Amino acid sequence: MILDGSKLKEKILENAKLIISNNNLNITLAIILVGNDEASKIYIKAKQKACEEVGINVALFELDDNTNENDIIDLIYKLNSDSKITGIILQSPIPNGLDYEKCIASISPKKDVDGFTMDNIYNLYLNRKGVMPCTVKGIIRLLKEYNITLEGANVIIVGRGNIVGKPLGLALLNENACVTWTHSKTKDLACFTKNADIVIAAVGKPHIITKDMVKDGAVVIDVGISKEDKHIIGDVDFDEVKNVASYITPNPKGVGPITVAMIIDNLIEMKLKEK
Ligand code: NAP
Repeated sequence: MILDGSKLKEKILENAKLIISNNNLNITLAIILVGNDEASKIYIKAKQKACEEVGINVALFELDDNTNENDIIDLIYKLNSDSKITGIILQSPIPNGLDYEKCIASISPKKDVDGFTMDNIYNLYLNRKGVMPCTVKGIIRLLKEYNITLEGANVIIVGRGNIVGKPLGLALLNENACVTWTHSKTKDLACFTKNADIVIAAVGKPHIITKDMVKDGAVVIDVGISKEDKHIIGDVDFDEVKNVASYITPNPKGVGPITVAMIIDNLIEMKLKEK
């Protein structure tokens, strides 16, 4: 069965639209783009479209390639103290030579829509309520939507990146899953994935998860994005793996849309907290 991220996104956006209008919420998302990364522009357009659909304003700040860290941090400080701004996204990547983590650290945790500041990651670590990273929150939301049991499930996460793999493992541990991280130094990856109830691939290498690596009836989530001739290729060989998996995300139209929906979800939570 397909875990349909696009369908769930539309359901979440419809509900968000109602919450925003019923509560008269005036929400503004600030997005900072530094440089000219083409993929970033596409991701920003998707975020703008979703915001527009539900009645959230977007203020886009485009800074050129020559911007230095202090310019970015000054802008973030201004946005932190601007009461009209609900949340801030610093679109990644920023140009080489600039310290992304240092810039992120200047975002107020209360306006940290992506959940990347130290406070919010520490909240996740302690299993306390905070702003959860959107992709992580989206994956858990998608699994719960399809009533997939997380408690006690043997979950293998392929990838330990700071944006997806690592925080996702913490979030699933908080849901009482038995989590194992694997990565580029893992010996015999298949030996881990073959025994998993849920395999989540967050690597960015085309089709590294193949049919023979997945047990019958497992749930498979494909987060990774690679591009070949402008087409998106996932980490999972979907056409083959779908024949053994009980549930599987397509890629695109799986984790991507639900990540965008969680930006809206986080913004509403942040706005309601302000009240
Ligand atoms: P990242 O920081 O580059 O992490 C990639 C991870 O993959 C690393 O931990 C790396 O291991 C591991 N890896 C590399 N080759 C491997 C192999 N052959 N076997 C097993 N593990 C291997 O990436 P990220 O920021 O976490 O993102 C992961 C992927 O998700 C990327 O493709 C990104 O574009 C995508 N993504 C998608 C969405 C979405 O909405 N769909 C959102 C965010 C990210 P080492 O640590 O040992 O190097």
